[in-house]
Amino acid sequence: MIRRSFLAALALAFSMPVAAWAEAPLKVVATTGMIADAARQVGGDQVEVTGLMGPGVDPHAYRQTRSDIVAMTRADLILWHGLYLEAQMEDFFHDLERKRAVVAVAEGVDKSKLRAHDDYADKYDPHVWMSPVLWREVVLEVQGALTDIRPEAAGLFAANAQAHLADIDRLAAYAENVLSSVPENSRVLLTAHDAFGYFGQSYGFEVLGIQGISTQSEAGLNRISELVDLLVDRQITAVFVESSVSDRSIRALIEGAAAKGHKVTIGGELFSDAMGAEGTYEGTYIGMLDHNITVIGSALNGDAPGRGMDGKLSAGF
Ligand SMILES: [Zn+2]
Repeated sequence: MIRRSFLAALALAFSMPVAAWAEAPLKVVATTGMIADAARQVGGDQVEVTGLMGPGVDPHAYRQTRSDIVAMTRADLILWHGLYLEAQMEDFFHDLERKRAVVAVAEGVDKSKLRAHDDYADKYDPHVWMSPVLWREVVLEVQGALTDIRPEAAGLFAANAQAHLADIDRLAAYAENVLSSVPENSRVLLTAHDAFGYFGQSYGFEVLGIQGISTQSEAGLNRISELVDLLVDRQITAVFVESSVSDRSIRALIEGAAAKGHKVTIGGELFSDAMGAEGTYEGTYIGMLDHNITVIGSALNGDAPGRGMDGKLSAGF
């Protein structure tokens, strides 16, 4: 009898603090894969993250599904990008933020560092993940949002954020290194839509999108023929397709140039608004950018290691 109660007391003594630590993970819902990755990096084992938009999904066009709504009603924290990226979900999130913990993480970036939006005078280019320096600020916003919800894990979130920021800094240095090796007259990045403005600004590339900042604006025939002339005049030989946007207009461009006797090839597929497959290196923020930097660097005659910053990129991209 005595022995049993002793064991029970012992179990209680040990289980109490363990139970306090082993609090159920926070349920976090994030719109884009990039934000989901930031939440996983910073949250560690304190979070269980659901990303709504998988590989190849275009956030400009995405609308919440019924299962997304269910996930969000069960979530402790909902993270979206803002800056009009999820244009079809703006009203939904503004309504939701009256009832739930909802944070637009890219709205926290210092506005003086943002580029103007080409379609709206009062809006900004939302593609801030293309610059590791701007993405740092988003990671800090994610850290702040998680800390507000679970202040007792503040120390863990801070340590995880610092470790992730160190990786982002290393990525920024790699980008600097590879992209500065691209000859100056080759520093032209032509893609399906205008997602690479911050990238171009950071690394001195001229960026041309067939469509504007949103994939929702149609590219006219005039725009295509204007860009064909530019490819021929400037002797640009590589253009890029995007994983989340149809390659139709890029192919029209290549055919148009061929009709004028100028050969243009596809320099590779870039991750513009969505990451690579889940569970792969390219399915993380660092891997996504490593892929883009390495593909652009090697297609435009720069020096880039075959498998990227850490030799982790899949072969044959
Ligand atoms: Zn975009």
